[in-house]
Amino acid sequence: MHADTCSHIQAISSVKPPQQLECAECVKIGASWVHLRTCQECGVTLCCDSSPNRHATKHAKSSGHPVIASAQPGERWLYCYPDEAFVRY
Ligand SMILES: [Zn+2]
Ligand SMILES: [Zn+2]
Ligand SMILES: [Zn+2]
Repeated sequence: MHADTCSHIQAISSVKPPQQLECAECVKIGASWVHLRTCQECGVTLCCDSSPNRHATKHAKSSGHPVIASAQPGERWLYCYPDEAFVRY
């Protein structure tokens, strides 16, 4: 990973891929989502901030898990919530 980013992103040696291409919380409540993100701490895939329920951000805030990766095909980037750090890989 890039040397000029935060310690959370530097600690990631391999990016966790999504286990499923759906939001784990939206499917429980029958909601829809726009894009998907995968938590790099626990591996759960949740919906982005353009989605009505913003589950990935809610998960990061409630769990303290700092880094998400885009789960969209073809998108290769990481984002760290506490540091607001965005890195392509
Ligand atoms: Zn960080
Ligand atoms: Zn969701
Ligand atoms: Zn997590």
